[in-house]
Amino acid sequence: MPVRRLVMVGPPGVGKGTQAKLISLRRRLPILATGDMLRSAVADKSDLGSKAADYMSRGELVPDDVIIEVVAERLKSTELSSGFLLDGFPRTVPQAQALDKKLSEAGLALDAVLALAAAPSVVIERIAGRLICPNCKSVYHESANPPREAGLCDVCSTPLIVREDDQPEAVRKRLEVYEESTAPLLEYYRSRGIVMEIDATGDVETVYARIEEALGK
Ligand SMILES: [Zn+2]
Repeated sequence: MPVRRLVMVGPPGVGKGTQAKLISLRRRLPILATGDMLRSAVADKSDLGSKAADYMSRGELVPDDVIIEVVAERLKSTELSSGFLLDGFPRTVPQAQALDKKLSEAGLALDAVLALAAAPSVVIERIAGRLICPNCKSVYHESANPPREAGLCDVCSTPLIVREDDQPEAVRKRLEVYEESTAPLLEYYRSRGIVMEIDATGDVETVYARIEEALGK
């Protein structure tokens, strides 16, 4: 049986978004990203969307029950049996249980949870080199994707900044919060024997090759 119903988890800066795009492209699976789903629910001005928008406009986390509903809506319009790649959901055990319920109602189950991991030092180096244009929001990286002229945005020539959140100390803190909040989720999936641990150290294609090997044909 091909592995077609996937969940991706990984700390900030581990390269999850990039790998999700590659998997989607090469294995022809739609990416269901929570951020996108929330934004489109908000744009649709549905009841659910305006509920979510209330929390987001106050800068609060959207609660589990609302996120679960948003994802459930999106899953309805997805051909579940032909596969999907969930990114950013589930983040908590109740969300994971809600997803399992939804899938089992359709006679299906998750095939795999790809858990991307790298040493904190690797993640900190990746994130700490990140440069943002405060004007047009273009993103650069000191070594991996430098601007043409040091410190200036290619698009609008505005001086680039390092976000507060991307300073090494802040990244360390974000990683701790991530580990704490994700540990129970991974435990939940490990007990089902579907977690595939992926070493996310190295360049994009090296990491992707490990994912392919884990998923098999
Ligand atoms: Zn710019």
